[in-house]
Order: sequence, then structure tokens, then C-alpha cells
Amino acid sequence: MNQQSANTEKANILIVDDKLDNLRVLSTILTTQGYQVRKALNGQMALIACQTQAPDLILLDINMPDMSGYKVCQHLKSDSQTSEIPIIFISVLDDVIDKVKGMKLGGVDYITKPFQCEEVLARVHNQLVIKNLQNQLQATNSKLLEQNSILRSEIAKRRQVEEALRQANQQLQDLVWSDSLTQVANRRYLDDYLQREWQRSARDKISLAFVLCDIDYFKYYNDTYGHIAGDNCLKQVAHGIQNAVRRPADLVARYGGEEFAVILPNTTLSGAIRVVENIQMYIRDLKIPHRNSPISQYLTLSIGIAAIMPHHQYSPENLIAASDKALYQAKEKGRNLFCAYTAPLQNALVEHNSEEGNIQCGLENMYAFSERQQNVE
Ligand code: GH3
Ligand code: MG
Ligand code: MG
Repeated sequence: MNQQSANTEKANILIVDDKLDNLRVLSTILTTQGYQVRKALNGQMALIACQTQAPDLILLDINMPDMSGYKVCQHLKSDSQTSEIPIIFISVLDDVIDKVKGMKLGGVDYITKPFQCEEVLARVHNQLVIKNLQNQLQATNSKLLEQNSILRSEIAKRRQVEEALRQANQQLQDLVWSDSLTQVANRRYLDDYLQREWQRSARDKISLAFVLCDIDYFKYYNDTYGHIAGDNCLKQVAHGIQNAVRRPADLVARYGGEEFAVILPNTTLSGAIRVVENIQMYIRDLKIPHRNSPISQYLTLSIGIAAIMPHHQYSPENLIAASDKALYQAKEKGRNLFCAYTAPLQNALVEHNSEEGNIQCGLENMYAFSERQQNVE
């Protein structure tokens, strides 16, 4: 015995007919097959029976006084509690129009009186099997819908976790790459970035500039105002340099204690000088008091600049060494100024005093130039 026949045998069937004889005959046919049968003599009783306990199937006579089978059917179909109950119409009427009307009202089949026992059983069984399959399908469907919504919420949760993970990774990366005091890039990131930009500039045959800024007499600053004030001053200077640098590819980093480096991709020496002038202006505008500085009442920077078209003969270290030499020159020449190595072909050192705003090329720079020759070329 398969699942469907097992379910259909226990089915609860409501027979509705105003003729007691018909009720008896049909009831006998069905109960001998193991169906549970209830009987109603008119439409009103049928509706009450359905409200009390919804049957699995209704055999419904059409011609009844007071309320016809069609009317009973309409009532049942209009109520969501009973609309799904399959209805087989029973009538002496054997007209096609009646059958069509019954189907249009929601009936699933039609049996003509006088009944043939076999036919009644076959039609009842068919409808119960169909109803069973529909129920199974609905159950599967709602289970699928439920699984689907669980899956959707799992996906949403997973996305949230992924996003949180991505943010945590980003924060971790920021910690790894940034200087904890000043929040600009740290030395590790600077080295990495310089390597990458070096390669890119070599490939694209464009100039790459490197700038080293060193705070003048910062030891005196710490001695005068204390180490915490010194730390705050470093933050201000880092911020000032960052503000002075405009292009997204430009990178400001803390190079060491009170030294900051700036990488300026796709920038020639004259472009770098303009950026450095901007840096000097921003630092000047900060007006950080430095009363024990021998050269100014405010904090000042000395800056070394170098620019180069990267070539396989050179390395990023040569570029850093060149800017370091220029910075050394700036310190030598009195501080609060910048010195720049010109591009290799021009072979000259440019010196600029940030307060007077003039650019000079002097003979004494030949020494620095010969140093550059050794370091860069
Ligand atoms: P110069 O003009 O020649 O550069 O003189 P300087 O005093 O700036 O240079 P020096 O190298 O003699 O001293 C650097 C000072 O920077 C000494 C050190 O205490 C201070 N410094 C380095 N790192 C930090 C830091 O993280 N916080 C503070 N507050 N001071 C620092
Ligand atoms: Mg220093
Ligand atoms: Mg210094």
C-alpha cells in the first residue's frame, strides 16, 4: 500500500443530499472502503459541518430546496477556511451546461445520478490523491520558502561579518603602515611606496622627486618645552606638511625622529620646489613658538630635495642619499632653507632661503654636486 492510498482511506468525506436514500447509499459505498463519512441533508447543515471540521472532500447534490449545491459551493469557495476543500457535484442533471457551471464555481468533478458504485469510488479516490499531492506540494513549497529565508538571512549575516572583517583588516593595515604619533605613513610604508613608485616612474620614464624635511634645533625645543610638547609639535608639523601636499599620489611619511619625507611621483625638481615652498608656507603659518631657536622665534624646517628619472643604474637609495646631501647643505648654510639637487643633466645645486624667497646657484655648491655625482650617478 503506498502513501497516497493510505492517506485517502482515512479521508473524511462530507455527503450533502436532501434525499435520505441517496445519503444512505453513498455512505455505505464509502464506509465499506474505509472512508469516514458525515452526512448533511441541506446546504445550511453542510456549511455548519464544514465550519466544525473541514472535510477532505465533499460530495454535493445540486438540486436541493432552500439552498442549491451551487450556492453552497459559492459560500465555501468565498471563505479561506473552506475554499481549498475539493467538491464533486452530484446530480441527475446530465447537461453539459450544468457540469460547466459546476466547474466554473470551483467544483473539481461531476457524478451523474443514478450512481455507479465503481465510478463514485474511482472519482472520489482520484480527487483525494490530487488533494494529497497538492498538500504535499504546499508543504514542500513552504519548507522551501522557509529554507530560502533562512539562507537569505545567513547570507546577510555573512556579508556583515565579511564587512566587519574587511574593516578590521583595514584598521590593522593602517596600524601596520602608519606612524602612531603623527598618523602619517611610517618608514616601512615609505620604503615600500618608494620602491613601487621608482619602478612605475622607470617604466613610464617620468621624474620622481624625494623631499626630506628636518625640524631645526628640535633638541632645544624639547629642552625648552618638554617632550610632550615636542610630540604635539611633531603632530602639528606632520599635519602642516600633509596639508601642503596636494596630489593623491603624493606621500608624506615620518622618516625618523623629527624628520619627515615626501614622495612626489611624476614631479620634476622645479615642481618639487613649488611643493616645498608650500610646505615652508604652511609651517610658517603655524607660528609654533621656539624661543630658544638661534635663527627664528618660530619653529622652522630645513629641507633637502632631489628628483630623478629612475634608471637601472640608480636605486631609490641614491635618490634618498641625494636629498639627504641637499638637506645637509641646507643645515650647513644656516637652516630654515631648502637645498635642491637639480636633475642630473643640469648639474647644479639650487639653494633657496625660505624667508628671503630668492633662489641662488653658488660655486660653493660644486662640493655638494660632486657628492651627488658619487651618490646618484
Ligand atoms: P638640527 O637643527 O641640526 O636638526 O638640530 P636638532 O636639535 O633638531 O637635531 P638633533 O638630531 O640634535 O636632535 C633631534 C631631536 O629630536 C632630539 C630628539 O630628542 C628629538 N626627537 C626625536 N624624536 C622625537 C619624538 O618622537 N618626540 C620628541 N618630543 N622629540 C623627538
Ligand atoms: Mg634630524
Ligand atoms: Mg633637527
